[in-house]
Amino acid sequence: MKINKKHALIRFIVAGLLLASTTYADDAAQAFKWPKGQKAAVSLAYDDALNSQLDHAIPALNKFGLRGTFYLQLFNPVVDQRLAEWRAAAKKGHELGNHTLFHQCSKSKPGRDWVGVHRDLDKMSVEQMKDQVIMANTMLYSIDGKRDRTFTAPCLDKEAGGKNYIDAVKSEFVAIKLESGNVVPDMNKLDPYAVPVAFPADATGQQLIDIVKEAAAKGTMANFTFHGVGGDHLSVTVEAHEELLKYLAANKNIYWVDTFVNQMKYVKANQKK
Ligand SMILES: [Zn+2]
Repeated sequence: MKINKKHALIRFIVAGLLLASTTYADDAAQAFKWPKGQKAAVSLAYDDALNSQLDHAIPALNKFGLRGTFYLQLFNPVVDQRLAEWRAAAKKGHELGNHTLFHQCSKSKPGRDWVGVHRDLDKMSVEQMKDQVIMANTMLYSIDGKRDRTFTAPCLDKEAGGKNYIDAVKSEFVAIKLESGNVVPDMNKLDPYAVPVAFPADATGQQLIDIVKEAAAKGTMANFTFHGVGGDHLSVTVEAHEELLKYLAANKNIYWVDTFVNQMKYVKANQKK
C-alpha cells in the first residue's frame, strides 16, 4: 500500500513535468501567425468624425494604399455636412466604426470639464447607452451598408450610471477598443472586447514608427487612435502622420495595415487560447 502510494506520487510528478515541458514547447511554437508571414498588424484609427480627417488623413491613406478605421460620433455636424465623403471613404475600403451618437463620458473624472451636463455618462443608464449604441450601428449601416463593425468607447469609459455598459453592447461588435496602451503584449491572450489603444497627440513621425517597430519585435499589434491630423483637437501634424504611413507602405512585408474589423476577425479566428 505504502509502495503503491509512492509510485503513484512519482508517476504524478513525472506526468506534471511532462505536461509542463509540453506546455512550454507549445508556447514557443504558438507565436501568433499573421497573414503572409507579416510580423505585426497596425490599426490606424481616427476618432470623432473630424474635418481634418477628411481633409488630410483619408487622402494620405488613399495615396499610400492603406486602410483606416474612422470612429464616427454621429451627432457631430461633420457627419451630416460631409456625408457623401464619409460614404466614399467606406467605398474605398475604410471602416466606419461606432463611437456612439452623442459621445457621453463620465463628467466626474479629472479633466472632464468639457463634458456637457446632458452628455454625462454618470447620469445615463446601461439600457439607454445600449439603445443608443445600437441606433448608431443602424445609422452606420444606412451610410455604408455593412453589418460587421467595431466600437471605440468614448474616453474609454466603461460605466454608465456606475454600471458596466460595454458588456451590454459587446454582442453587436466584432471587437472593441477599450484600454490604453500602445502595443498588444500577447495576441493569444488579447480580449477582443478590451483592446488597448494609443492616443498619439503631438507625436513625431519617428515616435510613431518606434511604436510599430515594437509591435513587429513582439509579433503583435499596434493600435493608434488619432484625432485631428493637421488641425482639430489632440492633433498630430500632417508630416508626422505621413511619415508613419510612408514607412508602413514601404514595409508591407512586415506590417499588415487594414481596417480594425478585418484585423480582429482574423485575430479571433486564429487565437490559440
Ligand atoms: Zn472620442
